[in-house]
Amino acid sequence: MLKYLIIQLDDTSTSFCHYNTSHDNPNLMPLDILKKAIRWSMVENLNVQFIYPEYTLPEEYNEAIEKINHTKIKPATYEHLSEGDIAVFNSIAETQGFDFTNGANYVIRTCKDELFKSFNDLRAILETSGRLSLVISDIQKFDKNDFSIYKSILERLAEVIRTEYVDKRHPIQFNLLTDRMMLISMNNCGAGDECITLAPNGRFYICPAFYYDNPEDNAGDIENGPDVKNQQLLKLDHAPICRHCDAFQCHRCVWLNRLTTLEVNTPSHEQCVVAHLERNASRQLLADIREAGEFIPDKDIPEIDYIDPFDLVKNKL
Ligand code: SF4
Repeated sequence: MLKYLIIQLDDTSTSFCHYNTSHDNPNLMPLDILKKAIRWSMVENLNVQFIYPEYTLPEEYNEAIEKINHTKIKPATYEHLSEGDIAVFNSIAETQGFDFTNGANYVIRTCKDELFKSFNDLRAILETSGRLSLVISDIQKFDKNDFSIYKSILERLAEVIRTEYVDKRHPIQFNLLTDRMMLISMNNCGAGDECITLAPNGRFYICPAFYYDNPEDNAGDIENGPDVKNQQLLKLDHAPICRHCDAFQCHRCVWLNRLTTLEVNTPSHEQCVVAHLERNASRQLLADIREAGEFIPDKDIPEIDYIDPFDLVKNKL
């Protein structure tokens, strides 16, 4: 069932996930489409997320947006960043000199090369912010050596988080390491199933990445409502590997799936191994925090003997 609508206000709206935006020229959603989308979201009782471009919107857009409860996702460089917004950095380098104490949720998009070189810069952000989500934009390029580097980076960042929780009583949320500690079931992005995107052209897409890949690959329009073809394939219960998995924090990115395996419901080896390294690092972090005293005693992350759930399925064949 649809729960969320992402409204991409402009072609140059920031990416907040794995995909890269490929449009340089501003192309703002027409105001009448925006108003129709807001009315439709009210009727459908949807949670709305607006994705902002760099520039300041015309006042009539702000008035329309404020008519509905929503979340704003903005580039961190947006001049009117305020409490409650999700602020997105397009690299770790872009975070230099930024004040992380203003109460926003932060997303940092980075590539593996930058992460491997600059992960130490995340320490100060983890020490001061309330929530940080790190998104790696080229997971599909990880190789065996990268997996071991990533594992050791997660261990180093877990030490920072343990100190924050145990010594400073600062319960920082960090998607890669603390989300799995708190979750008891899958919490994936739900693109095309629980969540749909409306692009500036007034058409729906499974997520913004599908719009950038091919604007003709749409899933209906705001005049006639969404029409997602083969929607069952986007659901967890039709994902033969993911439905047995307990890397609950994994994005289970259906766009990445299609990019790497040509099937929206089949993940790549790289996406699964990265998510399992995070899952296992979360398990160790949970144990380390508990050494200092009781901590979320009702949650558990069991030990497993595989790093890619596809191996489990293969062994059962
Ligand atoms: S780790 Fe792999 S199997 Fe598990 S949810 Fe993520 S993509 Fe699916």
